[in-house]
Amino acid sequence: MCTAMDSAVEIDLSGTIFKTKRLTLKAINGSYLSKLNDTVNKYYFDKDPTLFRHILNAHRDGTVHVPRDVCPMLFKKELLFWNIPLSLVAPCCWKYLYEAESDVETFKILLQEENKYDSTNKVDEAQVGIKQTMFAGDSMTDSEVIEDVNENQIGNKRTRASRVWLFLEEPGSSAAAKIWCFFYIFVVILSVVAYIIWLDPSVRVSQYLTKNPKVDALANQTIYEYMVYIFNEKVVLLASTDPHPALLCLDIFCVVFFILEALVHFSMCPDKRNYFLNAYHLLKIFLCISMIISTYFECRKDLLDEHDFRLGEIYHAFKSCYALRLLLIFRLHKIYNGLHIMVLSLRYSVKELLLLGFSFLIAVVVYGCLIFSAEIETDMFPSTQIAMWWSLITMTTIGYGDFYPTTTWGYVVGIVCAINGLIVLALPIAAIASTFSSLYSRNADFQKHMTEVRKQKQILCVEKETLMHCETFEIV
Ligand SMILES: [Zn+2]
Repeated sequence: MCTAMDSAVEIDLSGTIFKTKRLTLKAINGSYLSKLNDTVNKYYFDKDPTLFRHILNAHRDGTVHVPRDVCPMLFKKELLFWNIPLSLVAPCCWKYLYEAESDVETFKILLQEENKYDSTNKVDEAQVGIKQTMFAGDSMTDSEVIEDVNENQIGNKRTRASRVWLFLEEPGSSAAAKIWCFFYIFVVILSVVAYIIWLDPSVRVSQYLTKNPKVDALANQTIYEYMVYIFNEKVVLLASTDPHPALLCLDIFCVVFFILEALVHFSMCPDKRNYFLNAYHLLKIFLCISMIISTYFECRKDLLDEHDFRLGEIYHAFKSCYALRLLLIFRLHKIYNGLHIMVLSLRYSVKELLLLGFSFLIAVVVYGCLIFSAEIETDMFPSTQIAMWWSLITMTTIGYGDFYPTTTWGYVVGIVCAINGLIVLALPIAAIASTFSSLYSRNADFQKHMTEVRKQKQILCVEKETLMHCETFEIV
């Protein structure tokens, strides 16, 4: 006896006929095929038969296997069309399917960055092109494309202010901007070198120079010995000498350069509110403030002498921020892709970094308290803070040796702490490194694709121009 479920169903996929039982089609609940009309026995679909074979197999088997000769994203689309849930994908094919998905995610991140870079240029046709070719599934409608091209035309009428902004902000925008960027980096390096040798005795001149060298040497010697007796050599050197005038000039030049650049940069910024959301810009502002304060103190050294240490400490705190100027080198990330990818992978590894910080903090506190209790009878760890300092230094495998365990339990804690440190450090770093490597390798593909898109855009532009020429000719 032949029931309705046993009856054969014929499905025509662009000419290729598949025959199966109706019962097979009902195997996946809610799928497109399971909902086919029971009274009809022949169906036609204008779809790829090679993909449909796997869809039908999924109904026979109850699990989905992704074909290796087809793009996983295309197959995913097919699954969505036939309404087969992704939860049925067999574990052997997870890697293949989800790897492709994360690749697409990575490309989306890279495209976002590229868009951000071009935001001052407005949307250009290259992006319109890449949007169409990369994410064909969710590509823009024609009207959106036209809108984008219109925006592009408005964007081309840039004001002078935005041109200056582009010159300062985007080193890749022109050759002059690139040269300016390298000059900026040169000044950054120069200023940091000037700061490093700032306290070197060979580039400092005495404040107490008299015309008679003998008296001078004697006076200096007496004052020097007396001062060293009260303070230490570094403080005395700082208080009794001034930097060489050439070094001072260089420093003033750097300070003026940085402040002027920051002022012009800020005043030309088209979006003042967003300016303050950028960490690099905030660093610039902070450095300018610290430079102004420390330069003021340098000009009014009498203030430092009168109010002895408190103001001196503030002055030195701001002065030591000069070394942070080296961070301004990260401006180069706009030219060098590798550096850019490094910054990007750090930004997208915030979760892992937080995990690292958090697990490290817990381990430091736990091992600190443990070693403190283990060494409670010795006088090696005077406080829990010192014990925590020891656990931090041990976990990072530095081990200064200023504090060390002396009891058996202390050694046990030391061993566990050191091994745990290796593990806690290694795990999140591996995750960050994998983000970096995936971004880096995908970026290489992305850049190649962008080159193709740009080529295509140039061809389109030439065609458009010829077309316009023809039209004007007709009008004439
Ligand atoms: Zn499989």
